[in-house]
Amino acid sequence: MYAILFDIDGTLVSTGGAGQLAFAETFAAEFGVDELSGKVPFAGRSDRAIASDLMRLHGVDPHDENWRRFRAGYLERLPSALKRKSGRVLPGVVALLEELAAAGHPLIGLLTGNIREGADHKLQHYGLAEHFSFGGFGDASPDRNGIAAAALAEAQRVANAEWQESRGLEVCELSGAMVIGDTVHDVTCARSIGAFAVAVPTGGATREELAAAKPDLLLEDLSDARPLLAEIERAMRS
Ligand SMILES: [Mg+2]
Repeated sequence: MYAILFDIDGTLVSTGGAGQLAFAETFAAEFGVDELSGKVPFAGRSDRAIASDLMRLHGVDPHDENWRRFRAGYLERLPSALKRKSGRVLPGVVALLEELAAAGHPLIGLLTGNIREGADHKLQHYGLAEHFSFGGFGDASPDRNGIAAAALAEAQRVANAEWQESRGLEVCELSGAMVIGDTVHDVTCARSIGAFAVAVPTGGATREELAAAKPDLLLEDLSDARPLLAEIERAMRS
């Protein structure tokens, strides 16, 4: 079985800045920070790493209690922020997910810096939640390579469960994994788990920045997913 792992922001959807709005409103309400510094990059990073950097920059101690406070406030505000910003599902995403589902791929998962419930809010809002049965999330690690390792471990767990049920076998050996993302961090974390890296310049990075990271496949967006589907077929045959 082959695991296909999707990033969310800038890859599946553009939330129109809803995540950043919910961050800003939470920092204002919980920590009295009226305006968030623009110096902390969001793209391709985990919620925890972003929140910790912002706390340090604004003189808030990034200890566990403040993280829990941020997390609760953010999750409370995110659904309303998603409604207030006009985001969208990115080109080709729905058709690709439907094609993968029709082909019966059992290991379609997420690899995202979003905390699990935040990811769920975003995917529910855009009607994509049903396509994903597992994932690695920002809860697993502040570091994207740690999240990638968690996503791969989850893929293995789901694959084992599937084989146990269908064939009575204990362990399913994965034939590989693919990571699809919009930033250099996505390419790097794909490398860290030995996965095939697909990059799309639909979010946090330009085509040139992504090309410099040398992904295995660089697409304009997911509306021409033929090379990606060909690679999945090739990997499943080998
Ligand atoms: Mg992204």
